[in-house]
Amino acid sequence: MKDLLVNGAKELGIELSERQVEQFMRYKELLQEWNEKMNLTAITEDREVMTKHFLDCMTINKALDMNSQKTVIDIGTGAGFPGLVIKIAFPHLKVTLVDALKKRLNFLEVVINELGLTEIECIHSRAEDLGKNKAYREGFDICASRAVANLAVLSEYTLPFVKVDGYLIALKGQKLDEELEQGQKAIQILGGKLEEVVHTGVPFTDLNHKIAKIKKVKTTATKYPRKAGEPTKSPLGV
Ligand code: SAM
Repeated sequence: MKDLLVNGAKELGIELSERQVEQFMRYKELLQEWNEKMNLTAITEDREVMTKHFLDCMTINKALDMNSQKTVIDIGTGAGFPGLVIKIAFPHLKVTLVDALKKRLNFLEVVINELGLTEIECIHSRAEDLGKNKAYREGFDICASRAVANLAVLSEYTLPFVKVDGYLIALKGQKLDEELEQGQKAIQILGGKLEEVVHTGVPFTDLNHKIAKIKKVKTTATKYPRKAGEPTKSPLGV
């Protein structure tokens, strides 16, 4: 299992130390343990956690060199994907994990303590509420997100957190092209611009994923995000 992780990470341009590998192993164990008590993930088998969660989240390094970033926020992190994986793989980063479900954050706090991670915080909030908070608004180099909403909705959840010249990195599957047709307008309204669609395989799987790399080109108008629930009820630009 350890070789799978080390070699997979290497393929994605990431060198993992022994300490980092041990951290991933413990994270996997805790995920499997806690998943028996609460619904955290449908992926529980050792090899699949390594590939479909850990390596999948590390593909972000294909879209952007994470070594040259400083601050990352993950909106709708669930059991820590991709934010906690990014923190373990790139320990220099200051990472903020956000989710609307408190019980998932309880799990994340336990993992963070057990792994001895610092410069990482967990926030229990809906994206629409936190996005209004001046302490967080336009405060991050990167917003990373996976499997939270379609691009039109996701842009409203996430772009308010990104600094001008920073990036929203949305880890997506094959449906990205369809989502882009709908989402381009919302991205533009919120001050973003699609810079690139990065195609990437996930090592040791036959998965082909797409990553939307969206640059923040101007400040987001203060009326966004709209109040909680509004982005899903009437997605911008659709
Ligand atoms: N990103 C994780 C992953 O890839 O495994 C979790 C994906 S899960 C399908 C979606 C997560 O987004 C859930 O944990 C949910 O509570 C959270 N979420 C959905 N809408 C949200 C919102 N408006 N604000 C904050 N969290 C939200």
